[in-house]
Amino acid sequence: MKFDLDKLVRYHLKKLTPYSSARDDFKGSASVYLDANENPYPTDYNRYPDPHQRKLKEKISQIKKVSIEQVFLGNGSDEPIDLLIRAFCEPARDNVLIPQPTYGMYSVSAEINAVTIKTINLTTDFDIDLESTRKTWDENTKLLFLCSPNNPSGNLLSVEKIKTLLVEFAGLVIVDEAYIDFTSYGGFVPLLNQFPNLVILQTLSKAWGLANIRLGMCFASKEIVSILDKIKPPYNINGITQEIALKSLDHTARKDEWVADIIRERELAKNELLKLPVVKKVFPSEANFLLVKMDGAKSIYKKLADKGIVLRDRSNVILCDDCLRITIGTPAENNELLSELKRI
Ligand SMILES: *Cc1c(COP(=O)(O)O)cnc(C)c1O
Repeated sequence: MKFDLDKLVRYHLKKLTPYSSARDDFKGSASVYLDANENPYPTDYNRYPDPHQRKLKEKISQIKKVSIEQVFLGNGSDEPIDLLIRAFCEPARDNVLIPQPTYGMYSVSAEINAVTIKTINLTTDFDIDLESTRKTWDENTKLLFLCSPNNPSGNLLSVEKIKTLLVEFAGLVIVDEAYIDFTSYGGFVPLLNQFPNLVILQTLSKAWGLANIRLGMCFASKEIVSILDKIKPPYNINGITQEIALKSLDHTARKDEWVADIIRERELAKNELLKLPVVKKVFPSEANFLLVKMDGAKSIYKKLADKGIVLRDRSNVILCDDCLRITIGTPAENNELLSELKRI
């Protein structure tokens, strides 16, 4: 095993003393809090939130069956993506490997941090190309971003290939499972203890219906989690988000119903789309969206937008020529889209 976390983390962070908040120094509960320069008059929100999100992490660890030390929470998944780059990639020296096409934030975060991006293409059916992946990484490649189910294609990546990369790659393998609730596959969380270089990203933004509250979940070894804890902003998850997430996570059955409805609608929409002459291909999806190849995708995109129906134009994206990405909506929304498409 070539993976060595101690060598991977940026040197200057090893000596970093993280910011210690007033409530870190005092553990326990007091009746008079005069330590944090808060306004003493109650507004419901006058106190700082728990910087360690203990209650929320406990609940998430029960639902996901991981230990609390293996959970890191972020202001959306975007925050752990940025923190991973900042923790492990030396600007102007290190690089990250991003198979294309995929979610855009990995590249944007790398660019913001002046970290080089090495890209390779997924195969034409949007799976990992092992050979070219191996050929492309070098000794300065610190992170490999894999998205499964992949955005914008919707398919799961091959589990066996991901496992192979976890063994062979000396850096961190980040598996973004934003859409895992829509699949019948259980995801990589159960394999966390088997692979010390595995980092999993999930989110409350999709299946759980909570995009607005910005809660991203990151699961990794407790050593990796403590590195992220060290560099995160102290109060990165606000108290309102913690409260709403705690309440919503009690309603797993409601989430499961939404997921079942969306999957049913996805299959219906797929069948209807395939009947339309403009539709050339609907790619297999295990997510809450469909990637659809159409004759004149760009002009269809514009015509729909004029009618107030917004899709995601992916036609300029590699391997996605003439493709639009369609999020599955309510039955009424999907029907509206389909009848507009019939008219075009
Ligand atoms: C939507 C999405 C996310 C979610 O990001 P948040 O910041 O948690 O809302 C993450 N990864 C992928 C691939 C996505 O499509």
